[in-house]
Amino acid sequence: MAELQESLAELRQTFKSGKTRSVAWRKNQLRAILDLIRDKEEVIFEALHQDLGKHPVEAYRDEVGVVKKSATHSLSNVEKWMAPKKAPIPLLFFPAKGEVLPEPLGLVLILASWNFPLSLALDPLIGAISAGNAVVLKPSEHAPACSSFLAKTLPLYLDNDAIKVIEGGADVSEQLLQHKWDKIFFTGSPRVGGLIMTAAAKHLTPVTLELGGKCPAILDSLENLPDIKAAIKRIVGGKWGACNGQACIGIDYILVEDKLKSTLIESLKRTIHKFYGENPQNSDSIARAVNKHHFERLRNLLKDPRVAASIVHGGSLDEEKLFIEPTLLLNPPLDADVMGEEIFGPLLPIITLENIQESIDFINSRPKPLAIYAFTKDETFKRQIVAETSSGSVTFNDVLVQFLCDTLPFGGVGQSGFGRYHGKFSFDTFSHEKAVLQRSFFPEIEPRYPPWNGFKLKF
Ligand code: NAD
Repeated sequence: MAELQESLAELRQTFKSGKTRSVAWRKNQLRAILDLIRDKEEVIFEALHQDLGKHPVEAYRDEVGVVKKSATHSLSNVEKWMAPKKAPIPLLFFPAKGEVLPEPLGLVLILASWNFPLSLALDPLIGAISAGNAVVLKPSEHAPACSSFLAKTLPLYLDNDAIKVIEGGADVSEQLLQHKWDKIFFTGSPRVGGLIMTAAAKHLTPVTLELGGKCPAILDSLENLPDIKAAIKRIVGGKWGACNGQACIGIDYILVEDKLKSTLIESLKRTIHKFYGENPQNSDSIARAVNKHHFERLRNLLKDPRVAASIVHGGSLDEEKLFIEPTLLLNPPLDADVMGEEIFGPLLPIITLENIQESIDFINSRPKPLAIYAFTKDETFKRQIVAETSSGSVTFNDVLVQFLCDTLPFGGVGQSGFGRYHGKFSFDTFSHEKAVLQRSFFPEIEPRYPPWNGFKLKF
């Protein structure tokens, strides 16, 4: 506790010195992140393989590449983002000049999740640095190789007086949360998100909560699917190709008309087979469950006999390898845990509806998801989905790619969280927009001052 107190005092002192505010400091740190990613690419692949069994291509696409993209984008734009923006002032106050000035918040805490242990730690860090803050980053204890990599390597590249990595689990988070922060940026579960908010409330600390939930994918009828093969490949890639379903924006369940279910199941099976072979547990292109706890959690979802009876493909588990086969469930009961909890794993329920239009009510009867996916070319249906549902994002005819677009805000709504980041939104998330108004001493309009009288009332 005393050591932590000392570290935080040092970080506060650095922020107070003004060092982190300069554009040179921000750019140097962003360049250092790019250097680190370039120098240590192989070590990162190894750590991601150790923690999650990620293939280097997946690791590059979802982690190394994401961080490179974000750091490069921020490096090119940070100076522009930092510049004060002119604000028009009502004529009544003439002569006057107004501007909105982004200022750093101070000392910020970033708590990361384990499923994309590198990008979900470094992406917010890039935002915090771009905005000129001092930072404590706590990686997730459930990806120990990546956590240790960050703790050992970041100090070799970044300014240790302003940026520190603190490793540990819930107990360390709890200690960190007892301190006063100027912002807490949390990626994780809605349950822990609530604890973060409670702790932050004590100091009136603003929070960004990047949480999870059940993201549905709507598959329209065949006449509205110009390329069902592409749709199925994207669904399989989006479900099992990103950390084997352990992704906050991965597809949690599919909504489809009853008449399309057999085609869908057969196409999914064929594509899974094509991507991961006869025995997916032997494939090196698919990640595994992060640890025993999550493996057991997923096994328990399948233990419900009603859910077990709904398996139409897969369902085999390899405890030693912590591997669960891509598994399709057809209409598991809606009151089963697999339809109540976020799955965060390789199980994919398929829920059939008489008419695909019912998908809107289905989604609206549940907590607001982080992402909604819909495969359709029907423009009226698209408009309806956007207008009549609420979610962090809506993506048509693809999966996950919204995460990679820096011009789109990334964040949840309702139970999937609040606040947003990526690109300029990350800069804004870690900044305060200060209003600055400058007036001259003339003219002086006397009626604004008391004593009030009838004349002043009519003025
Ligand atoms: P988690 O909530 O268990 O842990 C997240 C972080 O909180 C970790 O750093 C952990 O050490 C810390 N933590 C755990 N217990 C705590 C406690 N009692 N007090 C304080 N801190 C505590 O989540 P997870 O298992 O790491 O991740 C899975 C969840 O995260 C899923 O719900 C998933 O959807 C969500 N997620 C969201 C995003 C997003 O960008 N929206 C990305 C990845 C994961």
